Amino acid sequence: MTPTQHIYWHTTVQMPDDTRLTPLPEKVDVAIIGGGYTGLSAARTLAKQGVNVAVLEANTLGWGASSRNGGMVLTGLKLGMGSVMKKYGRDIARRLFQCSLEAIDTVEQIVKEENINCGFRRYGHLLAANKPKHYEALEEEVEFMEKEFSHKLRLLPRNEQHAEIGSDIYFGALLDECSGGLNPAQYVSGLAMAAERAGATLQARTRVNRLERREKRFVLETTRGLLNAESVLVATSGYTGNVTRKLQKKVIPIGSFIIATEKLPDELARQLIPNGRMIFDSMHYLNYFRLWDNRMIFGGRAAFFPESSKTIQRSAEILQREMISVYPQLKDVKIEYVWGGTLDFAFDMMTHVGEMDGVYYSLGYAGHGVAMATYLGKTVAEAMLKGSIKDHPFNLFPFPSAPLGLYTGFPWFLPFAGAWHKILDWVE
Ligand SMILES: Cc1cc2nc3c(=O)[nH]c(=O)nc-3n(C[C@H](O)[C@H](O)[C@H](O)COP(=O)(O)OP(=O)(O)OC[C@H]3O[C@@H](n4cnc5c(N)ncnc54)[C@H](O)[C@@H]3O)c2cc1C
Repeated sequence: MTPTQHIYWHTTVQMPDDTRLTPLPEKVDVAIIGGGYTGLSAARTLAKQGVNVAVLEANTLGWGASSRNGGMVLTGLKLGMGSVMKKYGRDIARRLFQCSLEAIDTVEQIVKEENINCGFRRYGHLLAANKPKHYEALEEEVEFMEKEFSHKLRLLPRNEQHAEIGSDIYFGALLDECSGGLNPAQYVSGLAMAAERAGATLQARTRVNRLERREKRFVLETTRGLLNAESVLVATSGYTGNVTRKLQKKVIPIGSFIIATEKLPDELARQLIPNGRMIFDSMHYLNYFRLWDNRMIFGGRAAFFPESSKTIQRSAEILQREMISVYPQLKDVKIEYVWGGTLDFAFDMMTHVGEMDGVYYSLGYAGHGVAMATYLGKTVAEAMLKGSIKDHPFNLFPFPSAPLGLYTGFPWFLPFAGAWHKILDWVE
């Protein structure tokens, strides 16, 4: 039976109400484009400091990746810390890793302070090795992270991995107990309420169509009228469009897809992931999975192009096959939901914050945005209050454009990139 194309997380919470649209203000101090973790976290921070701030969201609040993701609240960045250190040096690498730890603390603190019921817990994450040589690399990683970052990780050799994962396909794993997990839609919904309580104006169904700088202020032309703002923050992630053309050309939108099974019996769920860890594997075309309410939530980059009913349907078949290859125990289990969402990758796979033509931005989370978007929304807002973002740790390195300028915002090269990743998975 074909699963329903619907975001399972949305069945677990009342998403923010967009039926009672408040009138668009004429003028604000700060206008934020995008109502996901970045925009809402920034709005909460600014409003708490008495700033008159409006979040402009084209769809419903939390509509983007923020209510569709795997809910893994992870340490580190997409790029391994070894590569980050090679590119930017020890000092910057240490600062960035520290930010990733503070990002998880920030989520934990907001959830607690705002009383958000989203099941946040420090479940820990497991990185499972698909090949023996990947496990050898994990052994080196454990040593490196302890030596350079004083960050303790635990190795699980193949003969011990059943304590953490009921699968035989891996060659051992690495465990990081610092990471967490949550229900992403419950979290973004709670974050929206928190921003509103702090005094932010949240405008759903308000797409920004044009952004124009007029001397010292900005005029935003939206589907619900004009808005004047002293400052603007772009928080549009994988959905960045041509309103901010220069930023759009620096961000590659990549689809990621998830299936959710029917509820599993307690004993089976416990056998699959005994300690409820957030799990992902060591491939370029990676799979990530976890449990929620006894359902297996299994995701992957099954197609590279962003979500459409065609890519979602195809992804359901691919992901089910992948899930059964990890867990043959789930062969006869029903897949109830499938959905997709769009991630934002920069050309260097790093996250970037900064100011361009007077407009602030925070983009390029590359699948690490649950913690990082919350944290950067907050810290970019703090930089805006200070009036300078120059010394923000994520602004200490350049935000590259496409090689040879061969990108206008339409990711024509994704099928090639997908094929390239498959080749890398085969040879590496
Ligand atoms: C399937 C999937 C699984 C993922 N799993 C994980 C995970 O397990 N852990 C993790 O850390 N990260 C994960 N991520 C990434 C994470 O979800 C994102 O990094 C994060 O949600 C980005 O938040 P954001 O607020 O910056 O952007 P989004 O939540 O994407 O919000 C951007 C918003 O901008 C709006 N917008 C765009 N243009 C305009 C405009 N012109 N006017 C008004 N509004 C506009 C869009 O409608 C959208 O709602 C996953 C992503 C996907 C898609």
